[in-house]
Amino acid sequence: MAGRELLLHVEGISETPRHYRFEAGGGFLAEAGARCVELREGVEAPPVFELTAHRAGADLVLEGVARAEVSFTCGRCLTRYRGALREPFRLVLEPAGERVPAEPEAARLLERDGMCLGDELEAGWFRGPRLDLSEFFHEVLALALPVQPVCDEGCRGLCPGCGIDRNREVCACEDRRPSSPFADLAGLKLGGGGTPRGGS
Ligand SMILES: [Zn+2]
Ligand SMILES: [Zn+2]
Repeated sequence: MAGRELLLHVEGISETPRHYRFEAGGGFLAEAGARCVELREGVEAPPVFELTAHRAGADLVLEGVARAEVSFTCGRCLTRYRGALREPFRLVLEPAGERVPAEPEAARLLERDGMCLGDELEAGWFRGPRLDLSEFFHEVLALALPVQPVCDEGCRGLCPGCGIDRNREVCACEDRRPSSPFADLAGLKLGGGGTPRGGS
């Protein structure tokens, strides 16, 4: 189910750049949530897409930025944190004319949305009087999501020994673990006073 609220009318686009602002509505968010768990549970401020559109010859050029605020679970310390997503984009759409995209999915979207994307998110085709930008915005948003969410670059994570949050507390594991094998060896060497215990 694609939201129908993210429509751009081709006739309104001229050589003079025009500004548009789209705020994702319920339909878009439901679809985004179905695609991604973070967007199902953690959207704090709905995604906003701001762009300028202009014509360059027969092509349409859309340039802008996607923004959203989403709560994530830190991959190191497991706390929830709020992250600001920001993803710039630039898309050039050329008239499809009579051409049919080789990929069936792209052909379907060109039919349904009046536009489809190539392999990259930077180029595509359009056909007809209006563009449904939902699919493109979903792709941009997916790019904006962190691959491995981290609350802070310096997050020290949970102690693998005792499980405490090392950002807040200090445990003894850290001191003991790295030194223990060497401490044992040192003890053996020194303990015997040069003569191994139990030696002949
Ligand atoms: Zn963290
Ligand atoms: Zn510990």
